[in-house]
Amino acid sequence: MTNLNEYLGGRIFNAKELTPDLKKTLLDQGATQTTAIYQIKGERYCRRCLMKLPQNSGKYNYCRHCINLGKINSSDTLFITGSDIVFPIQEKYLDWDGELTDNQQRGVHELLNAFNRHCDHLVWAVTGAGKTEMIFPLIEQALIKQQRIAICSPRVDVCIELFPRLQKVFPKTTIGLFHGKSLERYHLTQIAIMTVHQLIRFEKSFDVLIIDEVDSYPLAGNQMLHQAIKKSKKSIGMTVYLSATPPRELLQKVQKGQVTLSKLYQRFHGHPLPEPRCHLLFKEINFLGINPRLRLKLNRIVSSHQRLMIFFPSIPVMEKFAQKLKKYYPTLSFVSVSSLDKKRLEKVQQFRQHQVQVILTTTILERGVTFKRVMVLVLNADAKEFSKTSLIQIAGRAGRDKKYFDDEVHFYYRYYNRQIQQACREITYLNQQVKK
Ligand SMILES: [Zn+2]
Repeated sequence: MTNLNEYLGGRIFNAKELTPDLKKTLLDQGATQTTAIYQIKGERYCRRCLMKLPQNSGKYNYCRHCINLGKINSSDTLFITGSDIVFPIQEKYLDWDGELTDNQQRGVHELLNAFNRHCDHLVWAVTGAGKTEMIFPLIEQALIKQQRIAICSPRVDVCIELFPRLQKVFPKTTIGLFHGKSLERYHLTQIAIMTVHQLIRFEKSFDVLIIDEVDSYPLAGNQMLHQAIKKSKKSIGMTVYLSATPPRELLQKVQKGQVTLSKLYQRFHGHPLPEPRCHLLFKEINFLGINPRLRLKLNRIVSSHQRLMIFFPSIPVMEKFAQKLKKYYPTLSFVSVSSLDKKRLEKVQQFRQHQVQVILTTTILERGVTFKRVMVLVLNADAKEFSKTSLIQIAGRAGRDKKYFDDEVHFYYRYYNRQIQQACREITYLNQQVKK
């Protein structure tokens, strides 16, 4: 027996994937049929991802942009399922007894204003400002209006971290977590948490679309994903962008009045952002095994059992360092993670649960993860992989807990470059804004 829930809600399917019976049922339920490739002014476009097909595609008569989601040939037909869903009315939606700070409350007020006016809105909040709590009242209002909400991030880890938090505060609402690595099949839920890539499969599905970490890879500068965001929102609805380091294009839209803005310079606990301490190394980090200056720092950390995140610009640099670390500190417990690591999520969990003292990571953990009481070290902070944005995000991993707001952040480098200078300046600037 087919579970219809796995198909409904503005989903896009290739007709080839559907049985005749299912097609008939979906059409009865409001689905529409359309050609997979359409033409405007002689140019051909893919209906699923809205990307242009090359003029002389020759034997490639399919869309190469969204091929990861299954091949779409020019002769194919797409089914777009109905998205007029009536969700059940509940007695109570939000079950949360936390308190918002005055700053957060101001942000919530601005968000709800934008919601009522169906206006797109950017929340520009420093790392640890409590963005997630700020979207609770917005989600609640949308639920009361029986609307559908998607919360998306370019990063899987961010989605995974968000899921249990929302389940906890909206216990009666159906919530789904969908991403490429998840075993959970798509099914219709009132709240959907997913990676931005998943949006390519939707059309006019969501009343409220919340995009977290809008400046982060792979969303930054990716035309297909930005179009997917536009396409998956209902014609009357709103998109909310959340970022600690918003991209220039978005700030330009704010200037033009196309997007409204909330700014939060203060962390939820009211303490300033930890300002990075900068250390010039005269030799490589692996000089004499581990650079003596760095080793001195590590000795102190290891003996004081301080929890530590160490960021590296690349996997090879990290792996080499991991070997050295093992050699010099044989009793130290640590894990290392990267984008290629299949056990990444488990390892992060181990660190979270204090099963290991240290986590070595590439920029994959620069954002979206929250640990209590953790010192942060960036090695080779002058490497090209660490942009200004990236360094600000990394520094933002520290001091997130009310009790341990002053966790240390250290940048180690051989050249004090522009990125390091700009990141440090921006953090200082943000802290000064609070004092004003
Ligand atoms: Zn496509």
